[in-house]
Amino acid sequence: MIPYVDIHTHIVQKTNDIFIYNCSDFHEIKSILSNCSIGIHPWNIQSKEQIDDWCELFEQTIFHKSILCIGECGLDKTKPQTFELQLYACMKQFKLAQKYHMPVIVHCVRAYYDIISLYKNVKCTFPLVFHKFSGNQHVVQALLAYPMYMSFGCEICFRPFPEFYKDIPVQRVFAETDNNTQIPIAEVYSCLSRALNIDVEILKNQIFKNYKVFIQPCNS
Ligand SMILES: [Zn+2]
Repeated sequence: MIPYVDIHTHIVQKTNDIFIYNCSDFHEIKSILSNCSIGIHPWNIQSKEQIDDWCELFEQTIFHKSILCIGECGLDKTKPQTFELQLYACMKQFKLAQKYHMPVIVHCVRAYYDIISLYKNVKCTFPLVFHKFSGNQHVVQALLAYPMYMSFGCEICFRPFPEFYKDIPVQRVFAETDNNTQIPIAEVYSCLSRALNIDVEILKNQIFKNYKVFIQPCNS
C-alpha cells in the first residue's frame, strides 16, 4: 500500500501514513518520535539576537534523528513591520539548510519572488516546498526552474480551482493538513486530484515519489 504523505502538519497523527510534524520549539523535539520540521516562523520574529540564538540552538540540536526539514520559515508581506528581519531570518535558515543538506518548508505570503531571489542569492540547491501554495501561473513558471514544490491544503476543497492548476506538473505537488483537524489528508488528496484532473491513485503514487526525492538531501 502506498501511504499518503502529509508534508506539513501541526498535529501529531496516529497513522501508518507519512507526515512531517511542525515542531513548535526545541524542547518539544526531545519527545517527538515522528519526522519533524523546525524553523522560525515569520510571524514569530522579534529581533536579530533572537534569530542568531535560534540558529545556534539549531546547530546544537540538528543531530536529533527526528529533524528532517527546516521550517516553516519564510516571508509574509502582510507583516511588513518585520520584513527586513524576516529576510534576515529566512537567509540564515536557508544557509543552515544548505550546510546540513536539509529540505525546507516555506510559509510565503505575497513574497514568492523574494523567496526565489533569496534562494538564488544564497546559492541554494536543497528542495523547498511552498506550503499552502497560492501563487499565480507566473510564479509557477518561475519556481519550476528550481527544485521547488507546491503544497495544497484543505482550502482546495472549498475554493474554486484556478484553471492553470491543471498545468502544474504533478512531480512538483504535495498535500498537507497544516492545522486543520476536520479534513483528513485523504480528502485533501481527492480534492487535489479533481483540481489537477488526475486519478487519485496516480496522484498518491506520484506524491510518494516526490516525497522520496524531497527528503533525499537528508540521506546523502
Ligand atoms: Zn503551518
